[in-house]
Amino acid sequence: MKNKIRIIPLGGLGEVGKNMTVVEYNDQMFIIDAGIIFPDEDMYGVDVITPDFEYVRQNKHKIKALFVTHGHEDHIGALPYFMKEFPKVPIYATKLTAGMITNKLKYHKVDRSVIRIIKSVNEVFTYNKVKVSFFGTIHSIPDSVGIVIETPIGNIVHTGDFKIDYHPVDKKFIDFQRLGEIGKQGVKVLLSDSTNAEKEGVSVPESIVAANLEKEVFQATGRTVVATFASSLHRVRSIIEISEKLGKKVVVVGKSMEKNIKLAIQLGHIVAKEETIIAQKEANDYPREQLLILATGAQGEVMAAVSRLSQDENKFFKLEKDDTVIFSSGVIPGNEKSVGSLINNLLKKQVKVVQKKEIHTSGHGYQEEQKLLLSILRPEYFIPCHGEYRMLVKHKELATQVGIKEENIFVFENGDVLEITSDGAAVGESVQAGPVLVDNSGLGDVNINIMRDRRRMAEQGLVVVFAKVYTKEKTVSVRFELKGIAARLDKPQLNKELAEAVESRLSSEKKEGTLRRALIDDFVDVVYKHIKRRPLIVPYIEFIRD
Ligand SMILES: [Zn+2]
Ligand SMILES: [Zn+2]
Repeated sequence: MKNKIRIIPLGGLGEVGKNMTVVEYNDQMFIIDAGIIFPDEDMYGVDVITPDFEYVRQNKHKIKALFVTHGHEDHIGALPYFMKEFPKVPIYATKLTAGMITNKLKYHKVDRSVIRIIKSVNEVFTYNKVKVSFFGTIHSIPDSVGIVIETPIGNIVHTGDFKIDYHPVDKKFIDFQRLGEIGKQGVKVLLSDSTNAEKEGVSVPESIVAANLEKEVFQATGRTVVATFASSLHRVRSIIEISEKLGKKVVVVGKSMEKNIKLAIQLGHIVAKEETIIAQKEANDYPREQLLILATGAQGEVMAAVSRLSQDENKFFKLEKDDTVIFSSGVIPGNEKSVGSLINNLLKKQVKVVQKKEIHTSGHGYQEEQKLLLSILRPEYFIPCHGEYRMLVKHKELATQVGIKEENIFVFENGDVLEITSDGAAVGESVQAGPVLVDNSGLGDVNINIMRDRRRMAEQGLVVVFAKVYTKEKTVSVRFELKGIAARLDKPQLNKELAEAVESRLSSEKKEGTLRRALIDDFVDVVYKHIKRRPLIVPYIEFIRD
């Protein structure tokens, strides 16, 4: 058999979220990342969405290892689910990433013994004719890496999430020489971050944002709340540094923020004097001007710290007139409404709100940064990843601008397969890669039918119909219960019509199974006539034979 590489994105294409990529060399499988995406608002009761592991499941004898690029939810969030199902697969991650995975696994009560630390970006892991190595990248979180999978046919490079930043706040500069070496060695296939492919120019460096933030914190009155993502650890680092410079004490509010800061301090990614960070309950011991509250929930998430502060739900302190809330975060598309109502609430309390684009930047490179990376690595084949479809298409366009052949660029969807042999590249037969909806109550995956029922209940209400069929007397008695339906209705009439529906079906359908299904449709029609809605119908049909 001819040697073959297969590259299969199982998640992260056509979406920003749930990244997961399979790279196979003959009968060895390597997996990169296993992330989640959060459900839309109308996906009732769904906690998270993971990639579909079906392909991995069917080929689990091939799995050698899973490598993680960095500690963001869209790259590590599905690991607890993955590791429950594939408990023996070693998971490789840099220290900070491994720490974040560990915190997650503790929460999910999953065995952590398979986690292996990538001690430095110079480490190389060797398999049968395959080597896996790394390169440091700059992103909104430290310890991010890109991955190189070397095979006899050629090298596969996955950038992970990246931006090009010449002034990183942690002074961990980009190793262009290493990138150049990887490029010079030859890149058969590149998978690269497309998030900001639609944004022209270059992204603002994190250090500029830090300088702008310092001005805002300096000018702020009262208690200063800075809201940002718990996962933007470079930003968090800057905010703590600014606080020390301006003589403020930092109060951390939000579980994820607390955990991440603790871990980042342990690993030296955040340097803070011991007395800088104080407990929430000590906040009232200091003058208001001396406090900086570092909080999660900049997207207006109902249960998160800023939102709770805006509702006076923090038990240790309350925001007052002339306190300042600084949003050091962009608004993720779809969250405009919740952020808007959060700001309304803050303004009602006469709290000052600062929301400017100068105090946030993306962790993902813009067009010029993407082109720079493509130009250094010069891949033979290119799969844009980590982006909605239009971003992938744009990234393709950028790649052609820097000389990558158009026919060598594959704008894929999840589950599509690229096969590489010594003869070149070909698109293989796609594999199953739909979203898996997870309900953390742990009673199983939420399938399409459950989702449809939940949506129908939420939008149309619920009707339970109890029908007793006396087979000997050939009579029917019906009762019903409505839930979530506001219609004023003629109950006796509805009752009568439901009973008639049962009677007329009884004369034609003899089998109980088909009778049940037919009755659901009949009930929907009858109910629709009365309330002009099609609620979820739950029929209870009891046959009384004596
Ligand atoms: Zn990321
Ligand atoms: Zn990401």
